[in-house]
Amino acid sequence: MNLELTEEQKLLQRTVREFAESEVKPLAKELDETGHFPLETFRKAGELGLTGIAFPEAEGGAGFDHIAYTIAIEEISRCCASTGVILSVQNSLYCDPVHRFGTEEQKKKFLLPFARGEKIGCYALTEPQAGSNAAALQTKAVRKGNTYVINGTKAWITSGGAADATIVYVNTDPPKGEKGITALVIEKGAPGFRVGKEEKKLGIHATACCELVFTDCEVPVVNRIGNEGEGYKIALSTLDSGRIGIGAQAVGIAQGAFEAALDYSQQRMAFGHPISQFQAIQFMLADMTTGPRRSTRPVSLCARRPGSRTRACGSAWRRRLPNSLRARWRPA
Ligand SMILES: Cc1cc2nc3c(=O)[nH]c(=O)nc-3n(C[C@H](O)[C@H](O)[C@H](O)COP(=O)(O)OP(=O)(O)OC[C@H]3O[C@@H](n4cnc5c(N)ncnc54)[C@H](O)[C@@H]3O)c2cc1C
Repeated sequence: MNLELTEEQKLLQRTVREFAESEVKPLAKELDETGHFPLETFRKAGELGLTGIAFPEAEGGAGFDHIAYTIAIEEISRCCASTGVILSVQNSLYCDPVHRFGTEEQKKKFLLPFARGEKIGCYALTEPQAGSNAAALQTKAVRKGNTYVINGTKAWITSGGAADATIVYVNTDPPKGEKGITALVIEKGAPGFRVGKEEKKLGIHATACCELVFTDCEVPVVNRIGNEGEGYKIALSTLDSGRIGIGAQAVGIAQGAFEAALDYSQQRMAFGHPISQFQAIQFMLADMTTGPRRSTRPVSLCARRPGSRTRACGSAWRRRLPNSLRARWRPA
């Protein structure tokens, strides 16, 4: 099996790398220190198609496939872990379930502006008492006419403090357990919805990872994705593509860390030599470089999942390229 990138994929990689080096990397340190959500960078990434990489152009996406998605997330994460996580959540945890399970009307409202990067989305499954065991979630929704009334708290929601809409997993029929779980899109400003405390983390500080609190929150029934009771299936299948994004983030972050360590070791002097000349440092650098290099292709291999579109490039994306690169773009 040939795991080499195609010419188109290499061009995509170069383009995203140029964007990441010029727009993402210069802000990474400041973002991590201040914890500010990188809204401006998010918008610029949207203009380049990175907020909806693997979705059809008609739905606001760039028209690529999931391999392109892993390439882009690797390159962004190489320069800034927070921005990589935010784009990964936007693509795979928010846009993907709306693309796969939403109606045409829902896609117009809840996918198109999000895939274009005009709006920010997030995914709310976890609760303070329901993490790995997500089927035990306690947030409840009671239907009253054309609305659901929601009560409960979600925890650790990436982009939660910045999002325009959240896919929230609630139980509409608690006696049925996981078969009662339903997915609802809840928009910022919905009555009874507020962002709770920001979660304290050891790194990736700029992701607005927050608690979300629902107190008699009213949501129209038309915001339901899929049928009542289908939410658990939607949530778990969404995590499948989420894992591809997490793999790509890990590879990109490891590559970025290796490059920073190599650079530092060549500048830092001890006993009259750059420390990169010392054997113990060379062993550590060698260990760092084998990790990401071993993992890159397996992550793209996972991206060749069933149902993944296989075309290599999107014509909408070509139009977004700077002139210098557009001339070199050859659609497959
Ligand atoms: C940075 C960050 C961002 C996140 N973003 C989101 C988000 O956007 N949306 C969202 O919904 N959630 C999000 N989460 C939550 C994440 O999905 C949960 O952390 C995850 O599901 C694990 O749950 P938990 O932390 O409660 O750990 P627990 O479920 O309490 O697990 C604790 C430990 O027990 C182990 N364990 C659990 N079950 C078993 C088992 N059956 N057998 C053996 N060992 C087991 C686990 O491996 C782990 O080591 C985020 C979390 C973090 C840290």
